[in-house]
Amino acid sequence: EQVLVELGERSYPIHIGPGLLDRAGELIKPLMQGGRALVVTDANVAPLYLERVQKSLAEAGVVTMHTVVPAGEQTKDFKHLEALLDAMLEARAERGVMVVALGGGVIGDLTGFAASILLRGVDFVQIPTTLLSQVDSSVGGKTGINTRQGKNLVGTFYQPRLVLADTAVLDTLPRRQVLAGYAEVAKYGVIDDEPFFAWLEANGSKVIDGDLEARRHAVAVSCRAKARIVAADEREGGVRALLNLGHTFGHALEAETGFSEEMLHGEAVALGMVMALRLSARLGLAPAADAERLERHFEALGLPTALPRPRLWAVDRLIRHMAGDKKVKDGKVTFVMARGIGKSFLTREVPEAELASMLSEMAAGR
Ligand code: NAD
Ligand code: ZN
Repeated sequence: EQVLVELGERSYPIHIGPGLLDRAGELIKPLMQGGRALVVTDANVAPLYLERVQKSLAEAGVVTMHTVVPAGEQTKDFKHLEALLDAMLEARAERGVMVVALGGGVIGDLTGFAASILLRGVDFVQIPTTLLSQVDSSVGGKTGINTRQGKNLVGTFYQPRLVLADTAVLDTLPRRQVLAGYAEVAKYGVIDDEPFFAWLEANGSKVIDGDLEARRHAVAVSCRAKARIVAADEREGGVRALLNLGHTFGHALEAETGFSEEMLHGEAVALGMVMALRLSARLGLAPAADAERLERHFEALGLPTALPRPRLWAVDRLIRHMAGDKKVKDGKVTFVMARGIGKSFLTREVPEAELASMLSEMAAGR
């Protein structure tokens, strides 16, 4: 199955399905100028999949090099960026090299950023290996690293030449990571696709538990949704901001937990979507039944719907994190609210009192 991201001459296909790792060479080689590739991956993914990708590239006549960085969010920093740029130059990138990002969102964001600034841009492809990266971060061209001031504050828009989403590699992904990625899948249903949300209500557990066909469908629908939104608004001047559903709230939760293992990004996004729907219901925008429907679905699968205890959640600090979010313009925060599941919209008119009382309710565990 293929999804096309339509961006004029920068258009590219997303291939989706099991077994694509072994077709990497055949699919990447035709895009290459020279005959060399540099595969970038992390220390968890390397022992699982690096050899298969290299073998496939070699069979297509590509000379491959590789560089392995530590796993984890800490790797998205200046130090590892510098090391990666070094490795790329050592690999004589100036003579032409295809950069291959093999891993989750951390690898994709770091490698894409490095590829975008090296020699003012060298070609790269994404081989996302987490559910989150297959349905979200590998598509759309946002790249970047974190700084001491916050997440993703330094980066570029830079599209890959190709995305290979091999759904079979999700078999080795820890269940908690699968669930976290699932939050972003459900997001597409809540944004503007109620029938997909209904499909997830019936088939979400199959997606989580590893049913190949259910996973393929969930990844394909998600990529199609993201591709459509990105094609309409590559640089987030408008509709692309809908993809931030649950993210303004989620970002505040992640900031409070120090962007640590305590709360994964997808877990924060799940809670953030619950908050967005609850606040929408509270403001009379959405039926309360739709907020409950979302919570029931997440609960059924084991995604969080209540703020974890025993941590004390300070409402004023959460609000401050939202206000410090980089999506802020003229001192006002753009929120993604919803008129119901599948009916989200952007607004900058959210009364702070209602926001605070929704957060207090969540902080009190209700
Ligand atoms: P990640 O890359 O850290 O991967 C999660 C963990 O799973 C890591 O420990 C990794 O080594 C491991 N792993 C990866 N693939 C595996 C596999 N197949 N089997 C077993 N283990 C595997 O995290 P992520 O959740 O993929 O991505 C999160 C990052 O993505 C964040 O930095 C976030 O900012 C970024 N992001 C970017 C965009 C974008 O548009 N560019 C969108 C959303 C998120
Ligand atoms: Zn996200």
